[in-house]
Amino acid sequence: MLEIPESKTISLQADKILVNRTIAEVITASSPHKFAFYYDDPEEYPELLKGIRIKSTHGHGMYVDIHCDDDICISIGDGTNIRYYPSFEECPAKHQLLIKFDDGGCVAFTVAMYGGIWAYRGEFDNPYHRGSLNSISPLEEAFDEFYFNSIYNSTTKNISLKALLATEQRIPGLGNGVLQDILFNAGLHPRRKKSTLSDFEKAELFYSLKITLKNMAEKGGRDTEKDLLGNAGGYITLLSKNTFKNPCPNCGNAIVKEAYLGGAIYFCPVCQPE
Ligand SMILES: [Zn+2]
Repeated sequence: MLEIPESKTISLQADKILVNRTIAEVITASSPHKFAFYYDDPEEYPELLKGIRIKSTHGHGMYVDIHCDDDICISIGDGTNIRYYPSFEECPAKHQLLIKFDDGGCVAFTVAMYGGIWAYRGEFDNPYHRGSLNSISPLEEAFDEFYFNSIYNSTTKNISLKALLATEQRIPGLGNGVLQDILFNAGLHPRRKKSTLSDFEKAELFYSLKITLKNMAEKGGRDTEKDLLGNAGGYITLLSKNTFKNPCPNCGNAIVKEAYLGGAIYFCPVCQPE
């Protein structure tokens, strides 16, 4: 899933690989998907996109926006995979949208469980996308302790740390994936109530959020996710589906996996007491 480090990584790669290329052909879903979401009718995408040049890209929150000439944009959201192939022959047979460039390369969009592929002219009228565009990313310097406190203080005192950080899009693109290492590095349990945190723990949480996400982005995203070229990210997750069977990297205790608030949480009961 695209979260803050991956949308950043993919947009930086797309900036190098896709910008200034011209779309020669658009092939709509070869494999229709019930939970692939489009803007209006995707059958109109070929007419909208053909002959258009890609101008710039922007990764923010859980989105990657590909800006093209004529005020046209293609946005993808967290469940959509975008993959570049240098030649058309390498493209997957099953996809939810395929774009071919006039010089031979192509980009395939695929959706695993659910995801959006939105091509549109002008503004994208979607409250989550707009909220993400208008928010300050933890990767920016402007996301400082003062800003973090304003988000922190906007929630009720009984809220858990997972609910505070990774629900309601208070911090767009901070999802259940990156959350695990942020809380591990802060030594805080995902179920801890905000009201039980000392000032010191709250400061630890802020610094862990900043440093963990920066580290993930600088290393090209998490090793559980794929980039634009299909390579796994260089950030080795401490707690994830890849590693939870390993002992805790701090203390050697067994890592626990539980379902909580619509997604698995991983934690070390010793380093992150509840
Ligand atoms: Zn531990």
